Amino acid sequence: DHLASTVSDSDFNWQAADAAHHLHPFSDHKSLHQGRVRIITSAEGVYLTDDVGNRILDGMAGLWCVAIGYGRQELVDAAAAQMKTLPFYNTFFKTATRPVISLAERLTAMAPGDLNHAFFACSGSEAVDTALRMARTFWITKGQPSKRVIIGREFGYHGSTTLGAAAGGMVDMHRQGAALPDFAHVMPPYWYGYGGQMSPEEFGLFAARQVEDKIREIGAENVAAFIGEPIQGAGGVIIPPETYWPEIQRICRAHDILLIADEVICGFGRTGRMFGSETFGITPDLMTLAKGITSGYIPLSAVLVGDRVADVLINDTGEFYHGFTYSGHPVACAVALANLDILESEHLAARAEASGIKLRAKLIAALGDQPIIGEIRGTGLIGAIELTADRRTRRFFEKRGRVGALCRDHCFSNNLVMRAVRDTMVFSPPLTITDAEMDDLVDRATTAIMATQADIRSEIL
Ligand code: PLP
Repeated sequence: DHLASTVSDSDFNWQAADAAHHLHPFSDHKSLHQGRVRIITSAEGVYLTDDVGNRILDGMAGLWCVAIGYGRQELVDAAAAQMKTLPFYNTFFKTATRPVISLAERLTAMAPGDLNHAFFACSGSEAVDTALRMARTFWITKGQPSKRVIIGREFGYHGSTTLGAAAGGMVDMHRQGAALPDFAHVMPPYWYGYGGQMSPEEFGLFAARQVEDKIREIGAENVAAFIGEPIQGAGGVIIPPETYWPEIQRICRAHDILLIADEVICGFGRTGRMFGSETFGITPDLMTLAKGITSGYIPLSAVLVGDRVADVLINDTGEFYHGFTYSGHPVACAVALANLDILESEHLAARAEASGIKLRAKLIAALGDQPIIGEIRGTGLIGAIELTADRRTRRFFEKRGRVGALCRDHCFSNNLVMRAVRDTMVFSPPLTITDAEMDDLVDRATTAIMATQADIRSEIL
């Protein structure tokens, strides 16, 4: 057998080697390898290139993370310089490095409210796991160990560690060993799907009050925290009505329950403000961050901790038995600092807000009248297109997910990455996307959606 590293690209069957040896995350391997796995070889700006020379518009910014776009030399330089000076040192041994201290200082200065302390990890999942451990440790330290239950939401996504998956509302993950005791779930603020005849504002309050009902059912003395993404990303870009988050915050405070904002997707400009919590007017007790923190150039995540929880952890808990070898990795922190320089100097949060408005207008102009389009929604540069069986009644397709998968495949064959969540097409391009690139995105999406509609009409489905 040839080893991949010893032969030229074209001589080697990368797909066969992938099928033989590589287990992909969140994939059904049989169906994955029936098609041709695309090998992505390089990227620049908002475009990816594959090994046969296709130029693919990345409407997902990788996995919602490449905020500043691909190919930014500043981050490469920051990583190289830090690797040369100090490629690694831990933060366990009464030691720290300058990049980690600078990043902690900078993030806490940027963050809303009194999130004045930062803990670092590598992935969003680890950040969530950490935040949940901190929330429970907070109540244990305060002498209220019965306050353990974490309330999350249906379609919530908080990562793939067992705690994160248990907090999330993905039942398929629960079925594969990630259901744990002391986790509860309530309905998401998904007006399009669940709002019925209610106005979005009425429904926002209704959905928030499900949390209060759940707290009463379990007993506030047993609930540690509520965790939610300001906008639920992986669950289908569920954007809550304006009434939702303020009511959630009121409920958490009234029942003395910690509020955790999982900003792994929303953080760093995605929603048109630096943090989703600002977009929705809340000040959480804990905030989880990842993805856009380094624009995905290197793994890094953070938990920002408000004064109330930090005071207890710092002054009363003693040792918090939790941490990772790479907590505060100096190279990742140096890359994050360079990434924040770009986010701030190019005003990418404000740009996301302005571009989002333009992008939605373009999508509505191109597609708004089509029978298959139920809703086009977005906040900043995170958005969704609901495909529907009946736009008047907002009826879902009979077998959920088939039309979405078909549309996703049409997008991919048109060299556009747009994901399907059930029959909801979701997008979150790099925040640097230009007007011309948005036109390109809309053209490709229109072609794919019209092809999907034609398939449905010709009863391929
Ligand atoms: N939390 C949210 C809101 C996410 O969207 C994700 C990933 O998509 C995670 C947590 C998990 O992050 P990671 O995949 O980096 O572990």
